[in-house]
Amino acid sequence: MKITFLGGAETVTGSKTLVEIDDKKLLVDCGLFQGIKELRKKNWDQFPINPAEIDVILLTHAHLDHCGYIPLLVKNGFKGNIYCTPPTFELTKIILLDSAKIQEEECEHCNKYEYSKHKPAKPLYTISDVENSFNFFKTLDYKTHFSLFNNVFIEFHESGHILGSASIKINIKGETIVFSGDLGRKNPLILNKMTYFTKTDYVVMESTYGNKEHPELDIKKILFEIVLHTYNKGGNLIIPTFSVERAQELIYLFKELKKENLLPPIPIYLDSPMGVNATQVYFNYLNYLNLNKQDLNEMNEAVQLIKSIEISKAVVKDKKQKIVLAGSGMVTGGRVLHYLKRHIGDAKNTILLVGFQAEGTRGRALLEGEREIKFMGAYHQVKAEVLCINALSGHADQSDLLDWLQHFKVAPKEIYLNHGELHQSNSLCTKIKTTLQTNCKVAKMNTVYDLY
Ligand SMILES: [Zn+2]
Repeated sequence: MKITFLGGAETVTGSKTLVEIDDKKLLVDCGLFQGIKELRKKNWDQFPINPAEIDVILLTHAHLDHCGYIPLLVKNGFKGNIYCTPPTFELTKIILLDSAKIQEEECEHCNKYEYSKHKPAKPLYTISDVENSFNFFKTLDYKTHFSLFNNVFIEFHESGHILGSASIKINIKGETIVFSGDLGRKNPLILNKMTYFTKTDYVVMESTYGNKEHPELDIKKILFEIVLHTYNKGGNLIIPTFSVERAQELIYLFKELKKENLLPPIPIYLDSPMGVNATQVYFNYLNYLNLNKQDLNEMNEAVQLIKSIEISKAVVKDKKQKIVLAGSGMVTGGRVLHYLKRHIGDAKNTILLVGFQAEGTRGRALLEGEREIKFMGAYHQVKAEVLCINALSGHADQSDLLDWLQHFKVAPKEIYLNHGELHQSNSLCTKIKTTLQTNCKVAKMNTVYDLY
């Protein structure tokens, strides 16, 4: 068996690991490179092997940096099955369609104003490419022992990161390799806890926060204080929100506050077409969540999901106090811009940032205290109060990662760290070697590792 990291090594995006077992080729995840231009350009490189030679894709979860390259691989000749859990497939559909739509719109805009070097500018893939790729998906539930090829079995297990996310165990003639996938927090807010494995020969583990500890804060209390503070100022609370997981976590927190009668009498809205669709998927897969039917009913009552553009426009115009969760999470686009246009210039209002804000985004500019930001063709003075809660994270921190590894009763022969900036992976690697006394390597891009 050989493994080669074709992405998601020395970086957190573009996850793709090629596993070669005799004459079979598997790809664990098939993600897009995102972020800085140098990384995004890699999506346009020729794929290092002929996609038609890949037998199957195993997809850990629906985030774009794990699934976003699938339509292109299919367009270029991949004809195998793509295995994932049922909710991962549902969320992947939403995320890939949105990705293609954004690319098509950007190209249309580029071509109209002719500011691209490439004439005409083309998307990596279109909505129809995405729809075609859906034909190759097959779903497997957690814990199903599935025979992939002769003497090769796979199992998906909970990883506590987003709905449907999985760690994947591959068993080849009795030898096993576990891909952690993205691991969540030890005690996730609405998901079931991640699975701990006790035995394996090899591990490929993510290391996003390999050198970081998340602060232990009472998020519900902080959220309550911010809501109350904004209410007492007579303002609106605008929360730029990621559509998958973060939106549903916030809905859960608001329902908890409502249940405890702590919320002021103002409406709470989720105004994000993608967020509303994703929330519907969450509600359809209750058995994948650490929630019951009553929680779900209370969540439905606590936050109003805005489904039409007409209602959205009416809510934007409504002068009454409100709380709004709206996409996009980093203020790069989406309906949140309409709310900001109305509310960013008034100190009574609060903008609450609740997720990672990448460099170059408006969210980062707000976080760094810029007093003026440009959107919708104009500059806007930032007079609203900007606050952030950075304790909400979908990723395990260093202690969570070490804890996951400590559940192996016998040390794996080798641990490969992927999905991390180099300084995060390197420092986790040193920590693993010293505290767990095991072999550990930081995965290098395009390097072939011979396992046996
Ligand atoms: Zn992820």
